[in-house]
Amino acid sequence: MLKKITNGFIFTIFILLIPIILPVSLLQSLREKRRMRKLAGRFVCVECGEVLGVEAIQLADERWDEIVKAIIAKSEPGTRLRLVRTVDAICPHCGCQYLYRKAERTFEVREESPDWELLEPKLDSE
Ligand SMILES: [Zn+2]
Repeated sequence: MLKKITNGFIFTIFILLIPIILPVSLLQSLREKRRMRKLAGRFVCVECGEVLGVEAIQLADERWDEIVKAIIAKSEPGTRLRLVRTVDAICPHCGCQYLYRKAERTFEVREESPDWELLEPKLDSE
């Protein structure tokens, strides 16, 4: 009985906090995106030595959209997916792919994963 009341209370508090949680998380997301764009404007590619620029973020966004579409197309209908982004910037000069490290606020060369390789060669051939 007490557990039901406690769970109901926690649920009510959560519902009441949604109008605060959503805008705050949206603002944090926008701020992180802005930081990433700013960093891309001065980050020198470790492969070719050119500055990435904002175009690197746009290329990664397009690439990520393609990856997500391919994953959804391969999934059973109604499957709930939990995706972790695997590319945040792609050098427009040499194609080197980077992940954004939020804690260090820097880009790190993306390590190849066998899971990603299974999916991504199919994207390249389309
Ligand atoms: Zn490069």
